[in-house]
Amino acid sequence: MQPILTELLNLPGIEVENYTKVADRLILEVEAKTTKAKCPRCGEESNHLHQNRWYFARDLSISGQEVLLKVNRRQFKCKKCEKPFSEELEFIGKRRKQTNRFAEMIVQQVLHSDMHNVGKQNDLTDEEVWSMIKYISEKKLRIDLKPLKRLGIDEIALRKGQGDYIVVLVDLDRKIPIGFVRSRKQEEIRKELEGWGKEVLEQIIEVSMDLSGNYKGLINKLIPKAEVVADRFHVTKIVPEELKTARNDLQKANKENKNVNEKKKIEEALKQSKYALLKNEKDLTEKQKIKLEEIREVVPLLGKMHQQKEEFRRVFEDAKNWGDGASKLLDWMETAKETYKDSVGTICRWFGEVTNYFENRTTNGVVEGINNKLKLIKRSGYGFRNFDNFKLRSLICWHLDIGRA
Ligand SMILES: [Zn+2]
Repeated sequence: MQPILTELLNLPGIEVENYTKVADRLILEVEAKTTKAKCPRCGEESNHLHQNRWYFARDLSISGQEVLLKVNRRQFKCKKCEKPFSEELEFIGKRRKQTNRFAEMIVQQVLHSDMHNVGKQNDLTDEEVWSMIKYISEKKLRIDLKPLKRLGIDEIALRKGQGDYIVVLVDLDRKIPIGFVRSRKQEEIRKELEGWGKEVLEQIIEVSMDLSGNYKGLINKLIPKAEVVADRFHVTKIVPEELKTARNDLQKANKENKNVNEKKKIEEALKQSKYALLKNEKDLTEKQKIKLEEIREVVPLLGKMHQQKEEFRRVFEDAKNWGDGASKLLDWMETAKETYKDSVGTICRWFGEVTNYFENRTTNGVVEGINNKLKLIKRSGYGFRNFDNFKLRSLICWHLDIGRA
């Protein structure tokens, strides 16, 4: 017995029997202190040692020295069943090549770095690191849905410009993702939500979503009591989008302009006018302000639309409550029904959901922060070529039940 090494090793119930050193590695021979074990078949305790079985496992370093445990997982013979069985060891799983605490340390490093670097620094292959992530997740990944009241449904492009969207489900109060779905298919989202159980779904009071219409029917069916809120970010995007389209259409139409002088003037005014028109007016540079003045003079329609776009944004900024917001929005729709046909049409169709925002100001704003973190994960994603891996790697960021450094 090696009492000092046993003390240093600090694994409850485990004793260091012997040690050697091979090529800078400290090899500690360990076994459990108890002289008996419980039969997994009948639960009867046995102290009848059948045989010793040794194997090696990596453990935390001691004073900068890599530690390899030579573990004795003893086999006992059960008197009742008359069959041998292996003892359970709390600090290491069956057929694992690393102790649980070593695997936890690696997973924690992965949370703050990327898998490949962590592997390199610890002399492990990508596959070994990945296998530890899976192992620790099975033991410690817990998604707590009990506090869920406000749900956000949003989409994130995994690869830009490829239409490769995943759906992220967010607890808007706790500002954390609670689910990832591999596609926008209703069927997959339904499966995920139903997996949460009736009790969880019934306690949801608000669901925030975009204006695509992809989720509304499904949510009304699965969570009929929840208020659907059109996400402010998606709502306030539609007006600048329509302004941009109007500008592009005017630019195109002007190419056919027969009045040469006018054609030239409009061409000049619309040149590099995108940001002057689309940026919030208070954030314009001096140069952009001059540009905006020029547009107002030469293309009054765009000047008017610009002003209405600014008013539209202020409705969302200034609304004091539901009544105030709803009436301001109605006023705006009245003034903009000719210039912003598409936007007004969309808001009409979603009027209830859009104005629900003024009630609690619930938005999917937190998704942006989550998205930034996911982008980092994606970028450092050696070996994360499939969705399930990406999902697991992402979920451990927020839901792993181990101390976070
Ligand atoms: Zn037994």
